[in-house]
Amino acid sequence: MDSIERLKELVDSTDNLVFFGGAGVSTESGIPDFRSVDGLYNQKYDYPPETILSHSFYRKCTDEFYRFYRDKMICLWARPNAAHMKLAQWEQEGKLKAVITQNIDGLHQAAGSKKVLELHGSVLRNYCERCHKFYDAEYILHSAGVPACECGGIIKPDVVLYEEGLDQQVLQEAMRCITNADMLIVGGTSLAVYPAAGLIDYYRGNKLVLINKEPTSKDSMADLVVSGSIGEIFSRL
Ligand code: NAD
Repeated sequence: MDSIERLKELVDSTDNLVFFGGAGVSTESGIPDFRSVDGLYNQKYDYPPETILSHSFYRKCTDEFYRFYRDKMICLWARPNAAHMKLAQWEQEGKLKAVITQNIDGLHQAAGSKKVLELHGSVLRNYCERCHKFYDAEYILHSAGVPACECGGIIKPDVVLYEEGLDQQVLQEAMRCITNADMLIVGGTSLAVYPAAGLIDYYRGNKLVLINKEPTSKDSMADLVVSGSIGEIFSRL
């Protein structure tokens, strides 16, 4: 039996599945990840993305931050792929209990998923740092320089930047979902960004599946490793 058939068998056998994913889930929607060969780390910028997307850089060089952010992080043209769609379908069927994502692109919700725990926030939400008025991504995209609120405050994306802490409520709920899951599928993440990557350690079952194009540091923990593109794999389930 090949690994996709085995995955199908495991999915068919559960009604308490949790999915935990990263940037690799959206590459087939056209959004580059960070660490693949064509990812953002390997494109030419004055600073690596991790530096630009840090809290201190945002404070010191807000203008430069927004140039990168508009250019590379707001991808309103992107559409959900087969992986996003299948996860939404499983939730509707009562099979999947939660999607936990490190992504900030909103594509799981666009596919119809309801319970989405966004560990790193979303580019679709932006707030004035002074009066907390909400702004959508279109506003940020079409503003120039540092986006300003009508009150004069600076608008900040509702995205967890490097050096910033995760929302504790979201993190706790993600831990709870993973602890209680019968089956956990981890897909499209290098498992290099903590504390998100550490969530996998909360899983206590015997149906841990890792899906990635490349080997990850946690492959030896998995009950099943499926190598390949996640959208393509999910379209065969
Ligand atoms: P990462 O870039 O570190 O790793 C992505 C992983 O996915 C790699 O291991 C790569 O081999 C794999 N991958 C790429 N395309 C794949 C595919 N089609 N099928 C299967 N595997 C695939 O991403 P990360 O682990 O999520 O961590 C990066 C951080 O960057 C996260 O915090 C995330 O918030 C942020 N980020 C988000 C987006 C987004 O919202 N779409 C995009 C880039 C980065």
